Amino acid sequence: MAIERTLSIIKPDATRRNLTGAINQRFEDKGLRIIAQKRVQLTLDQAQKFYAVHSERAFYDDLCQYMTSGPVVVQVLYGEDAVTANRLIMGATNPANADKDTIRKDFGESVEANSAHGSDSPENAAIEIAFFFSETEIVG
Ligand code: ADP
Ligand code: MG
Repeated sequence: MAIERTLSIIKPDATRRNLTGAINQRFEDKGLRIIAQKRVQLTLDQAQKFYAVHSERAFYDDLCQYMTSGPVVVQVLYGEDAVTANRLIMGATNPANADKDTIRKDFGESVEANSAHGSDSPENAAIEIAFFFSETEIVG
């Protein structure tokens, strides 16, 4: 078991429905610690840079617009196998395919508005965390 950090984002569909606390409870119930957190309004430029890996995908423009449609909560989660643990807590990208009792199954509205983001590897987690946080903002 590796102790890891991962980047999580509570997406605009979830902040709009006042689900920040409900989603955070799921992380804490599974033993992940929220060691940094801030609520921000992303600019289009930030969303485009954050999702640059998807820039050739048909959904990229819509996704970037959606991610700027309201506030998001960006956070660093910390704990055992945090990257994989968070992906399991979130569930599959498309809420229709997500397992029961996952964030995306219970709260997701669509494949785009699926309530949460989670890094997909420890390497990407480090890059994504640095995109939003300086080390002095992360308090374990
Ligand atoms: P995940 O967030 O599960 O890692 P991806 O990295 O593949 O999924 O996609 C990033 C985000 O892009 C998804 O969380 C979702 O918001 C959006 N997305 C992915 N696939 C689609 C799609 N087919 N149509 C619309 N939006 C999508
Ligand atoms: Mg992804």
